[in-house]
Amino acid sequence: MNDLYNQAAKWIYNSSDVVAFTGAGISVESGIPVFRGPEGLWSKYDPSILELQNFYNNPEKSWAVIKEIFYDYFGKVEPNKAHKVIGQLEQEGHIRSVITQNIDNLHQEGGSRTVYEFHGNYISLQCTKCGKKYPVDQVNLNAKVPRCPNCNHLLKPDFIFFGEAIPEPAGSKSYAEASACEVMLVIGTTGEVMPASVIPYEAKENGAKIIEVNTEPSQFTSQITDVFLEGKATKVMDRLYKSIEEIRNNAVTNH
Ligand code: NAD
Repeated sequence: MNDLYNQAAKWIYNSSDVVAFTGAGISVESGIPVFRGPEGLWSKYDPSILELQNFYNNPEKSWAVIKEIFYDYFGKVEPNKAHKVIGQLEQEGHIRSVITQNIDNLHQEGGSRTVYEFHGNYISLQCTKCGKKYPVDQVNLNAKVPRCPNCNHLLKPDFIFFGEAIPEPAGSKSYAEASACEVMLVIGTTGEVMPASVIPYEAKENGAKIIEVNTEPSQFTSQITDVFLEGKATKVMDRLYKSIEEIRNNAVTNH
């Protein structure tokens, strides 16, 4: 196990072109459940609330659940050690960007500056008619259906619903970052959500080393992962950061 951490730490320490690619698993220890599986949000809520047509047909019903899941709850959570280590590694010049499937804003709150949000973010809302965007704190979420202050039409969270296109420029930037990186750190994702799941393959095909962090093997593990660090994201990232520090300290001592 030490060898795996040492190998992963060396790749990160020796590179300034590491890209982190994250999924719901990285935010579990902040208190946000994954969507699928026995503990997932979809075991409690009906996923059709995030189907576009259903949202337009039943805005009041959809908004009641969307508010409960994403606004009453997400707003209270904080970034965890894994988000913070990623932010720190960017400040130290190793990580160049984060591509996240998450919509929870926790990478930015954890210190990351260059974040590509492949599925959007919950902290802004967009008018379904005039397209104007509003930060969530400027919107009355207690209204049965939040409406655009400009044209009074229905507001929708600024993350994508099922079947919607990946927002630009986040989509094309993500593919570009994936094909340019030397190391990709894949954290807490099953690899089952398309088209996001092609991103680590894009990195691998362009020569990147793949380091994966997950509590269990994913679609990527046997296909493209070079080093699999099994365990919860906070514990693994803390240990990985310590291994990087060790290499840095040894390099200083040897000079
Ligand atoms: P997912 O593909 O994001 O997979 C979750 C993965 O996290 C699984 O592989 C699981 O083994 C792993 N995991 C669970 N706990 C972990 C931990 N403590 N440390 C490391 N790994 C852990 O699957 P999903 O939940 O079905 O999500 C579907 C889509 O919805 C994804 O795009 C996801 O990002 C998004 N989503 C976002 C949030 C959020 O913004 N926090 C929450 C739920 C889902």
